[in-house]
This record gives sequence, structure tokens and C-alpha cells, in this order.
Amino acid sequence: MLNGAGSYRRSVITGPRQIAFEEVAIPLPGPSQVLVKVAAAAVCTWEQRVYAGIDSWSYPLVGGHEFAGEVIAVGPKVSQPLAPGDQVAVAGLRRCGECWACRRGYDNVCDNQHSAREPGKAWGPGGFGEYALLEGYQIYRYPRPVHALEAALAEPLACVLHDVKRFTPRRGDTAVIVGAGIMGLLHLAALRSTGAVVVVSEPDATRRTKALEMGAHAVIDPSTEDYVESVKRLTEGRGANVTYVAIGLPSAIEQSVHAAAKRGVVSVYASVHPRGTLIQVDPNVFHHKEVVLSGSVAQDHEDFLDAVWSIAHQTIDLKPLLSCSFPLGQLADAFAAAARPDTYRVFVTPDGV
Ligand SMILES: [Zn+2]
Ligand SMILES: [Zn+2]
Repeated sequence: MLNGAGSYRRSVITGPRQIAFEEVAIPLPGPSQVLVKVAAAAVCTWEQRVYAGIDSWSYPLVGGHEFAGEVIAVGPKVSQPLAPGDQVAVAGLRRCGECWACRRGYDNVCDNQHSAREPGKAWGPGGFGEYALLEGYQIYRYPRPVHALEAALAEPLACVLHDVKRFTPRRGDTAVIVGAGIMGLLHLAALRSTGAVVVVSEPDATRRTKALEMGAHAVIDPSTEDYVESVKRLTEGRGANVTYVAIGLPSAIEQSVHAAAKRGVVSVYASVHPRGTLIQVDPNVFHHKEVVLSGSVAQDHEDFLDAVWSIAHQTIDLKPLLSCSFPLGQLADAFAAAARPDTYRVFVTPDGV
């Protein structure tokens, strides 16, 4: 057991392209808390936006919300059976359990997600540090040993499982994924078992090839082909039954609505920036074709459990998405690598491997 002595290093994003490293005391877990030693944390678009200065309300941020590690110490009031040495994934999202959304079962949109934040103080999920202190409910134990990098992907996989669970294609349906970045390709991996025909739309040739390698039935290059026409051509004129828009482009949402089949569903998976951006669609599509335009955000506690068990038992193959790793001290290099179009998930690990 830890006695609270010693310090650890963590990164703080203090402003656009500014990363500070600080030594802080290793905390002791409170009664309902768990102390985790970080084994791997992935660089996600949120941290990239904060680092690039696009999302500036988050400073000073201890980023890293996609991470996994090893249990070091467990508070006496943590209910689940956890022991030092257990391999765990961390759900960074806070869920109060008491707000209307939590009580309705929508804890992915908990009203009090950011309540722990104090203005001016470094805050955040903490994966870009050597240790992180979390509430017991945020900890998910792997039932069997998992590769550290795959273990760190429970969070993004849970988000994708949430989207696919909300909008599940029927066997034989045509599902279209717009954008073959990591989130689009995770959708592809998750859709394999549904029996849907999966089409991926992506302008980058390398990413289209990756999508085909990962099992896409067809790809569309929207930079040279008409997207709506291509979807119609692939579906004998009917359109897509389910479309996941995994890129934050308003025009992609508009086109997806117009390429939807009767009773088709379009899910806005990626956020669109700047906030307040408007889209234009012909509302008659909703009336005449009963098309549904919706979306999904983050993951609920059940999705996270599903992701952990899917990874543990290898029911979803994440290996094609693991790109490279950097030691924590080279976080800036990790951001640079993550911004390249030929990488999918870039990781920060204690030793960079
Ligand atoms: Zn993420
Ligand atoms: Zn809540």
C-alpha cells in the first residue's frame, strides 16, 4: 500500500501549443477513490483542439481521457472488487448519478460533468500524467490481460458502441460512415458483426485503402465523386439506411440527409466547429421519407462495460488503429504525430513503447 510519499510528473496544457510539466505529490485515494498508474493514454481530437488553441475554455488542462493503467491503491468504500495490480480502463466522464439525465439512464449527458472544475486550477481526466486519481465508478477492470495500447482505447470504442447501439442497422441494410479517421474506422470495426453492408466515404486515398483492409464493402471518394449519387448507386437508388457522420463538416450532414433511404437515420457523431454553425436541409425529406436526423455523444456506463469486454475478449480488432507511442515528456511530438493524416491513434506511455 502506498503511504502518500513521493511525487509524480504530469503535463498541463496551459495555452495554445504550450505544455508545462509539473511534479505533484502522489495523492492517497479518498474512501470512494482509486489511484491508478497510467500505462498508456491516447491523443484524441479534444486534446488536439485544446493544444491547437481551437478550444480555449479548457486551460489549464491535464489532458488524456482515453487511458488505461494499473491499480495502485483502492479506497475502503469502493464497492467493486479491485486490487493493486489490476489492469483497468478509465472512464474520464463524471456521472453524478443524481441529475435528471443520469436518472433517466442518459449518464453520457450528465448535467454535472464539469462540476469538479475550479477556475484557474489545472483540471482534467489526467491520462497525460504518471498517476491519476479517480472515483471508483470511473474504473473498469479488464477481466483478462490486454495489450496496454488496446486497453487505452476503451473510451473511444465505448463512444462508438453508443452510437451504433442507438442507431443499429438491420442485417442487409446499408450503413454509411462519413470520414475514415479513427472514429470512422472504429465504427467500421463495430459494424462488422451487424451484418450490414458498410460503405465508407473518405477523400484521403490512404484512409480509403485502410477502410477496405478493415472490411468496408465499398468506398466513396467525395472529392471526385458526387456523394449522394454514389450512395444511391450503391443501393439501387434507395439510399443509406443508417449514416454515421464521423467528421465535423456541416455539408457532410446535409448531404447525408439527402442520401438517406426512406426511414433512414443520420447520426451526427462528430461535433461541428465553430459552435453555432448552421446546416441547410430540405425539411420535406423528413416528411416524405420519414428520415431521422439525430446524433450521439460520449458513452454511458453500460457502453463502457461493453467496450472493455469487447477488447478483453478480442471481439473487435483494434490493432489496425494503433499507430505509434511517445514518452510523456514528448507529448508535443505526440500531438504533431496525431495531426498527421497517416496516423489513427497515437499514444503516450511511460517509456514511449
Ligand atoms: Zn476521445
Ligand atoms: Zn448526472
